Amino acid sequence: MEHLLTKATRQHTKDHNTRLVLRTIYEGETISRAELARRTGLTRTTVSSVVGELLERHVVEEIGTGHFSGGRLPILLRVADDTNHVLAVTLEDTRIVGALVSMRGLVQQQISLPLGAVGSEALVACLTQVIDRLMDQAGGSVLGVGLSLPGVIDTIDGVVRSAVNYGLIDLPLRQLLQARYGLPVYLGNLVHLAALAEYTFGKGAVSGNLIAVSMGVGIGAGIVLQGRLFAGDSFGAGEIGHVVVVPDGPICNCGHRGCLETVASMPAIVRAARELIRHNSTSLAGVDPDEVDFASVRRALEAGDPAVQQLVSQVGNYLALALANAIGLLNIERIVLSGPVATLGQSLLDAVNGGISGMVLASLAKTTRVELLADGGDAVLRGAAAMVLDAELGLVRVSARG
Ligand SMILES: [Zn+2]
Repeated sequence: MEHLLTKATRQHTKDHNTRLVLRTIYEGETISRAELARRTGLTRTTVSSVVGELLERHVVEEIGTGHFSGGRLPILLRVADDTNHVLAVTLEDTRIVGALVSMRGLVQQQISLPLGAVGSEALVACLTQVIDRLMDQAGGSVLGVGLSLPGVIDTIDGVVRSAVNYGLIDLPLRQLLQARYGLPVYLGNLVHLAALAEYTFGKGAVSGNLIAVSMGVGIGAGIVLQGRLFAGDSFGAGEIGHVVVVPDGPICNCGHRGCLETVASMPAIVRAARELIRHNSTSLAGVDPDEVDFASVRRALEAGDPAVQQLVSQVGNYLALALANAIGLLNIERIVLSGPVATLGQSLLDAVNGGISGMVLASLAKTTRVELLADGGDAVLRGAAAMVLDAELGLVRVSARG
């Protein structure tokens, strides 16, 4: 027993050292073995042995030599970005989108296929078609498959617990795909993965913490806590779209009244703008309310329509109310907003910041930074890749505060 434990501890130390060395190479872009030893605090012998193993696995490669410093020219190491990819796939409205993503989060060879029908059979058929095609295109090795899906995703067992709009219940996708491809397969909720992408490949976070809110047809958030994606005890972390911000407000799909989604989602904003037209209180007055879409609301805002400005400011306030609770509870300083609603820009941001200042302790409000994320286009695919890189190689951004 003691022998087994010793062996387990030795293996654990080895894994830890491998991850530490690989992460340091990844963060340093290019680095020598001597510098690796200095930065990791490991002995040169340990570094050499770990690097040897990583070279053998083709995860890192040697490139030329470093600057002359009066002695031998050191060989530099870097991650083998050109030969290793993650196969990332996401379910996007009525399509399945897949891509090969580099170890630096670069999305390559993106393809998409229409999802013919709802239900697990149609999903699996379309999913495997996308993966098959990408496998054919992958020149080097594929480190694993990362799947991003809406709904409640059991990230531990790799099962879609429920995705109501797609008719999925308890679908064991990891098991199915692992058996077919013989590769590691990971699943995650798409809003959670967008947060992981920003954390891993984006500007990251001041500390190891981040909240990324996606605002579109629905509203949800992904939370990174101490450098790890936090899924919640039953995988439902970040469901701020269904936090009530208007008691007795409009009825929500979930059955409650006044959820954030009923007043701050894209459809809610369009609904409110149509209401303004009926009251003739906007420059859009005279336009057929049915013709009004989100883009026309944004144009009216940009043109300085006071009623629409007022509407956006109200949306910002409702969002601030939901976020204030999260800030008070967690004191996470970096919050990013993405998705169509975030394109309302500075007016929305000012209202959110103003709202937060009035709703949390001054010391917390002062250090909280809410930002708009310019382009969330590939975020979900990159997040799915980040999930695989983290699980397989330990490549997550470490806290800037150390
Ligand atoms: Zn709701």
